[in-house]
Amino acid sequence: MKNIMLDVVKKRIFKTIEKHKLVEEGDKIFIALSGGKDSATALFAMKEYMEKNSVNCELKAFHINFCLPISEKVQKVVEEQAKLAEVKMETVYVKDLGIDLEEIRKKSSRPICSICGVIKRYLMNKIPREKGASKLATGHNMDDFLVFFFKNFLNKNFEWISKFRPLLKGTHPKLLTKIRPLFYVGNKECELFCREKGIGYIEEDVCPHTYFNCVIDPKRKKWYEILYKIESFHKDFRYQMVKSIASYARFLKYEESKLLECKICSELTSQEICGFCKLVRKNENK
Ligand SMILES: [Zn+2]
Repeated sequence: MKNIMLDVVKKRIFKTIEKHKLVEEGDKIFIALSGGKDSATALFAMKEYMEKNSVNCELKAFHINFCLPISEKVQKVVEEQAKLAEVKMETVYVKDLGIDLEEIRKKSSRPICSICGVIKRYLMNKIPREKGASKLATGHNMDDFLVFFFKNFLNKNFEWISKFRPLLKGTHPKLLTKIRPLFYVGNKECELFCREKGIGYIEEDVCPHTYFNCVIDPKRKKWYEILYKIESFHKDFRYQMVKSIASYARFLKYEESKLLECKICSELTSQEICGFCKLVRKNENK
């Protein structure tokens, strides 16, 4: 019975990869590993897909080490995952880049979740691109996308439309194409995948938000609970919902804000100076 479920999960991921051309011949894909179940599922499923279909491309694990007390433990898990998947791994230690998250947190008025997000998004685009990546794969899953949809929809923020898809094409030479192989599988499916495949992962939330007692995470968990509650009486609720929203989004148009190059680091930004430079330089100057 369990293996049937594993096959269903794998089939859904493979179908997503195939239909949306997430993996192509000659690609050099960096997968951002966090130590958790989702990115691990994305890594192993993509590796299996490439082998099964003899796709000639390179898959590399990429990890941002935030140099926090928990980071050593996370680093070990991530290294084990990469070793088990037989892929090469690249780690960036934020301290090596002069970033001290705790220092920035003390001096910035931004909430920690926003600081962490800026740093992650910046490094996840810049470093793999500089190392020759053609695409960046992330472990965002179906449940994350549903919560993302509800929150943005409720706030009348329609930016979600352009991002609600498994493949986000880079619209600028400096913007990496992002792929989300887990667009149609959620937390439950990723847990099953890792358990059945014997893949170790960090079960607690490893994100720095939790480390600094951020309040965002408990809210996200409540959202997940509600989704699963609906699914308890409406079979396949999450899957149907994500498919319907994705179809609906195709009818809508959204103008993305214009991309500029940061005056300090020349990475992409919507303002004169990018969020990363504002945070890191502000810290350096004090
Ligand atoms: Zn910058």
